[in-house]
Amino acid sequence: MSETRSRFDVIVLGVGAMGCATCLELARRGKRVLGLERHAIGHGLGSSHGGSRIIRECYFEAAEYVPLLLACREGWERIEHDSGQQLVHRPGVLYAGGPQSEVVSRSLTSGATHGVPCELWTASEAMRRFPQFHLPDAWGALFEPGAGFVRPERAVLAATALARSLGAEVHENERATVWSETPSGVRVTTDRATYEADSLVIAAGAWTPSLARDVGVRLQPLRVAIAWLKPALPGACASPRMPAWYIDRPGLSGLYGIPTADDQDAPHGVKVATHGDGTPCDPDQPRQPPTSEELESIRLAAAEFVPCAADRVLSGTTCLYTMSPDQHFVVDRMPGCMRTFVACGFSGHGFKFMPVMGRVLADLACDGATSLPIGFLAAKRFAKAS
Ligand SMILES: Cc1cc2nc3c(=O)[nH]c(=O)nc-3n(C[C@H](O)[C@H](O)[C@H](O)COP(=O)(O)OP(=O)(O)OC[C@H]3O[C@@H](n4cnc5c(N)ncnc54)[C@H](O)[C@@H]3O)c2cc1C
Repeated sequence: MSETRSRFDVIVLGVGAMGCATCLELARRGKRVLGLERHAIGHGLGSSHGGSRIIRECYFEAAEYVPLLLACREGWERIEHDSGQQLVHRPGVLYAGGPQSEVVSRSLTSGATHGVPCELWTASEAMRRFPQFHLPDAWGALFEPGAGFVRPERAVLAATALARSLGAEVHENERATVWSETPSGVRVTTDRATYEADSLVIAAGAWTPSLARDVGVRLQPLRVAIAWLKPALPGACASPRMPAWYIDRPGLSGLYGIPTADDQDAPHGVKVATHGDGTPCDPDQPRQPPTSEELESIRLAAAEFVPCAADRVLSGTTCLYTMSPDQHFVVDRMPGCMRTFVACGFSGHGFKFMPVMGRVLADLACDGATSLPIGFLAAKRFAKAS
């Protein structure tokens, strides 16, 4: 039987990447925060698992993200410092593509505009610097030396532990079923109890459509396959000798990889996946594991450009993207609400924003506004288009 329990300043619904950062930021500000997570913290059923995530500041997706990314650097350092753990590796990121590659040109422009150190190379210069890669002669490449990758499960666990140590209440294995605004705040009912707070942040990843139907944006969860490949030359595929990489294959989805590192959990392989090939799915249905055909096709794609990384498939898994219609995030007040905010549609590129999203969502929950530049992520851009 459900009964109303304590009142909080803010309830955060969903404690994955964005939710844990929000709980941490609110706890740092001395707020009474309740995080509700339907699974165990750091679980492998949403969007924030798989051992590694690329972080970078040259941003081909849109230059407007770069100021937010620059704000993340200090955020990652603070989580690492306060938790006493290394979460981030910075062996650089190599972007490569044909002469018309927008990934290369837009990464360069966005980075250069905001003073992010990066170097533009010909294919032969890139292969001289990183002989692990086989790139067509006419291609170009951009190297961003300060970029790299982060350990997502450890980051979520570390941020949640820090939030708890500062007084946040984070409930695991408790599913929120209904939320509403009341005259004096918000109310959230779960499969265990009902809670009240001054404001609510919904950070429910692929489950957002079922919890926030009125967000006014069509969100599509996608099942995405990931492979870990056994390198033919292990030393050449280890960070920092190998950077993380993103290959812009003409007419095909992007192909990216993350090198091995000493602190990697099993499987100890190069992680490779494509960006843009997912299949629509229902996050509440049992997820089909990756097929051997899916994993072999990732291996073959990697073998073309990074042959020393693609000896054989070690293992694979699946993960969820939550696509917005334009593949940009949606971070806004819930339409028609006063005290409820939503962060969703991270479209397969959100993890690197975890620290700054914590600040943005804490600002929104506490003040209803933020000075961080998130105007381009407003939900109303979709209303305008229709
Ligand atoms: C294969 C793959 C590779 C990626 N690579 C990169 C990369 O290299 N770089 C990068 O920046 N990004 C990358 N991303 C994207 C990034 O990981 C996601 O954008 C980010 O993790 C989304 O975080 P989230 O907090 O929105 O979702 P999640 O971390 O999934 O968190 C949502 C949480 O809400 C909980 N929840 C849902 N419903 C309820 C409910 N009713 N009650 C309580 N809790 C609930 C869920 O259990 C979940 O824990 C990748 C994603 C995938 C899948």
